[in-house]
Amino acid sequence: MAYLQFLGAAGTVTGSKHLINTRDDASHKPGLQVLIDCGLFQGAKEWRLRNWEDTPVPARDIDAVVLTHAHLDHCGWIPRLVKEGFKGPIYTTQPTIDLCSVILPDSGHLQEEEARFHNKRQSSKHHPALPLYTLQEAEDCMHLFSPVAFGETKRLSPELAFRFVHAGHILGSGMVELFVGNEGQARKFLFTGDIGRVPLQPTAPGRVVHAGPEGNEDPEILVMESTYGNRVHPHDDVRPRLAQIITDTVQRGGSVIVPAFAVERTQKFLFLLKELMESGQVPRVPVFVDSPMAIKAVEIFMKYADEFNEEARRLVQKFGSPLNWDGFHFAPKQEDSKKINEMRYPCIIVSSSGMVTGGRILHHLLLRLPDPRNQVLFIGFQAPGTRGETIKSGARAVRIFSESVLIRAQVTALEQFSDHADTEELLLWLRTFKKSPRKTFLVHGEPEASSRLQQAISSQLKWNVNIAHWLEKVPLG
Ligand SMILES: [Zn+2]
Repeated sequence: MAYLQFLGAAGTVTGSKHLINTRDDASHKPGLQVLIDCGLFQGAKEWRLRNWEDTPVPARDIDAVVLTHAHLDHCGWIPRLVKEGFKGPIYTTQPTIDLCSVILPDSGHLQEEEARFHNKRQSSKHHPALPLYTLQEAEDCMHLFSPVAFGETKRLSPELAFRFVHAGHILGSGMVELFVGNEGQARKFLFTGDIGRVPLQPTAPGRVVHAGPEGNEDPEILVMESTYGNRVHPHDDVRPRLAQIITDTVQRGGSVIVPAFAVERTQKFLFLLKELMESGQVPRVPVFVDSPMAIKAVEIFMKYADEFNEEARRLVQKFGSPLNWDGFHFAPKQEDSKKINEMRYPCIIVSSSGMVTGGRILHHLLLRLPDPRNQVLFIGFQAPGTRGETIKSGARAVRIFSESVLIRAQVTALEQFSDHADTEELLLWLRTFKKSPRKTFLVHGEPEASSRLQQAISSQLKWNVNIAHWLEKVPLG
């Protein structure tokens, strides 16, 4: 019997992995086993340990991966899947391939660094501690990627086909329309991946995101994210508040530290910052973009400027590449990063990882968190169990490199930067559907967020909504 199984992002926001299995072992009917997304578990240890478990069906028997977008919690387990024996194609959009070619090797590099750190301190119960995958292994799996354009129907077998439609979440992000059954009588499933912001009104001031997900869907089964199922973002213009925060920090002699995902989020932030500096709303202090992938990330961002909304395109046109801006410095090498630590005058540091789970941001925070003049500015989602969430939640101290670091710096989160639709926006998008799905499964949410969204959808739209459970199988017969 064909089935759908949730291998990740069920009961949590990370580790997105959904298996579609159309094989029928009883009748020996051929079929396919396809993974929609192949993400890394991040955050609490309970979840991260699952990165070390094999897939319930052997990786070598999985025929293909269809990838919605390039965030690690959707693509970061691919090198491990390949290491476990997967040899099939990985279908995704060309911008997502470009982004993965930067993000996955960086992830491998961080895995190796972490293993080295544990081996040095002997702080792992495994001897030696091993990386989940290496930089080289991540680079090696890039040859399996195969581009599929938005709107193009890709047939995998007579009984299975799919198509990407715009999700409006990040560059290259798509939702997967999956067609199961023979052409003409196929059943349609929709996997949303992450859903971008849905404009509540035609003019959304200060929006730094793409123009929303495509509407008018009609799947029989909907598998939908629920990250912000219990929250509403502020819908006002982020710029005045951002200008105020930076100006206040610089005036008291402090620096602004921005943990940000290196690809896209960092570039959008830089363009807003540039705009505020050019218009005199923010003092011209040096800006350091400290990430080994920073330069490549800017190049990808500039290459696909057409994909952004009008406002972002206007800024790209006006200011050109951030690589050429006065006062903006990119630190590709470790030595450059160390020099930033020696800065004693106010500056702005944008560094990854965005949830402070690793990377160079750790060094910057280690040094600057204890000083009350400094400002930590979050512009992205912080998953529970990550250091970012600890800092954001108002904790007095956080552990970095096995040291307890006092948090005396100011901490602010600007939710307007979110690339996820909030509850109100999700409901607005669902209302565009041509008919109610027979079944809806909520994934990619903390339990509280998923259950609040479940209540909202069932009371307002009267749909049949379930919260997906880890390893749960849904028969597709
Ligand atoms: Zn995402």
